[in-house]
Amino acid sequence: MTTSLKKILKSIAIIAFIATLADGCRKQAQTVSHVIILGFDSMSARDVQRARTPNFNRMIENGAVSLHTRCVRETTSSQNWMSMVSAAPIEMHGVLNNSWKKDDAQNLMPALRNRIGLFPTIFNLIHEQKPDYRQHAFIEWAGETRMYDTEVFDSCCVFREDPDLHEKMDVMKKAISTYLSDRPEMMFVSMDITDHAGHTFGHESDQYLSTVSQMDSLTGILVSELEKRDWMKNTVILITADHGGIGFGHGGDTMEEYEIPVIVFGGRTTKGKVMKRTNMIYDVGATAAGLLGVKLPWECRGKFLEEAFESADSDVYVPIPLVRPFSGSAKGTISIADDAEGAEIYYTLDGSNPDTNSTQYAMPFSIKAPTCIKSIAFRKGCYSDVAVNYLSPACTDPPVSYKLYTNISERQLPDFTKFGKPDAAGYVENFSLEELGLANEDHFAILFSSNLIVEKDATYAFEMKSDDGANLYIDGELVVSNASAHSRKPALGKIRLSKGRHPMKVEFYEDTKVQDLTIRCSIDGEEFRPLINSDLDK
Ligand SMILES: [Zn+2]
Repeated sequence: MTTSLKKILKSIAIIAFIATLADGCRKQAQTVSHVIILGFDSMSARDVQRARTPNFNRMIENGAVSLHTRCVRETTSSQNWMSMVSAAPIEMHGVLNNSWKKDDAQNLMPALRNRIGLFPTIFNLIHEQKPDYRQHAFIEWAGETRMYDTEVFDSCCVFREDPDLHEKMDVMKKAISTYLSDRPEMMFVSMDITDHAGHTFGHESDQYLSTVSQMDSLTGILVSELEKRDWMKNTVILITADHGGIGFGHGGDTMEEYEIPVIVFGGRTTKGKVMKRTNMIYDVGATAAGLLGVKLPWECRGKFLEEAFESADSDVYVPIPLVRPFSGSAKGTISIADDAEGAEIYYTLDGSNPDTNSTQYAMPFSIKAPTCIKSIAFRKGCYSDVAVNYLSPACTDPPVSYKLYTNISERQLPDFTKFGKPDAAGYVENFSLEELGLANEDHFAILFSSNLIVEKDATYAFEMKSDDGANLYIDGELVVSNASAHSRKPALGKIRLSKGRHPMKVEFYEDTKVQDLTIRCSIDGEEFRPLINSDLDK
């Protein structure tokens, strides 16, 4: 080896050493004595932006936010809670889905095992590496605890299987009062109330967004109490979710379901930092562990969210606008709002992407034809994501006939041909349950019929979400089948159609609990959009 090569290698080694040291020093500077994880089931990154959340907004202004953190596939609860609190992906921890049970012979073996044979959570790691640290957990969904070694918590408050609304709100209230009296080093709160609201009312509904606002208010109480005690400089609060949601559910592959928010507030978090990198849900657990100075085993692939502590730039948080009504037919005027003070809203009605040269929103407006409204918020030189809403004018002659059959005993899609007189019948604007007021009903079936108007020869792809089962027919041909039911995943189907009218029929049945029917279409490979009343004729 030549001397100069030796010199180069030596200097590389020194640089590497300095880098390690710097990393260690920086981590040191980021650590705090207390971490709180507030997880809201099913609260998507978009939900946080759309809902009125003055407290979250203040935490974002004074902390960091990521709107592009992804949960793992599929977008349901168990494997995502586990990924969050183990700082590891599914393939390592082995909780594959919501039907996962401990000690099932079918299970994927966890890559590491704790005392009770499960993949360790960060709570296990904290317990081992920081034996003096106190940890409290408040878990609203009892099923979640089957994945964790709850013995490591100093207290683990689990709520009964079907708590009422008061009890649900009490989870957060109880967590706050316990925290203030005992100030544990780690507190984990997992709230299910948001998921319940999503399934019952739909993620885009006022009722759902007001549930997010309630969580915001309770979080505001916690933060102001901590600030009063001057605890925030030693505490980091991480606000996040297990997965997102769209319409009445989750489990599919849309960005609304994948993207969850991560708000990092307190300690030495950079004020007003908008994180740009795409993170994973297991980075949340890794960050919580890193903040407490807890080391992760090799098998944990979560990364510390360095970006939340990096120097600030000129980007500011601009929530996506909220258009009302959100979709379907606009019976009155259309309004657009934004949950950021001083945000200007711009929109287009011709499908083009809006910017500050587009029409500035000033007051509610109406439309005369089916319209794709694209809107954007602008604040301090920064844009929000673009909101896309498909709306059509209210129709005077609803195009879809329906026949409703109640007291259906079958637990699958029934044979409609054997039914006699329906219990109710009439016309609605769309293949949907919205206008029928059946939100609290169970055991019914509906036969919807209309005609699809096809403007030119084209290939139509349909995406149908149904809970419970449904079949979609065009020209008597079964195009989409979701008859096996109990699924919130969309079913897809395609058909080539010639210009003209095509009889379209949807059979739907509801067994129990949540119900939903949503149909979207894509013509010749274009983006999926909701089917609207003007696509249909009596
Ligand atoms: Zn969930």
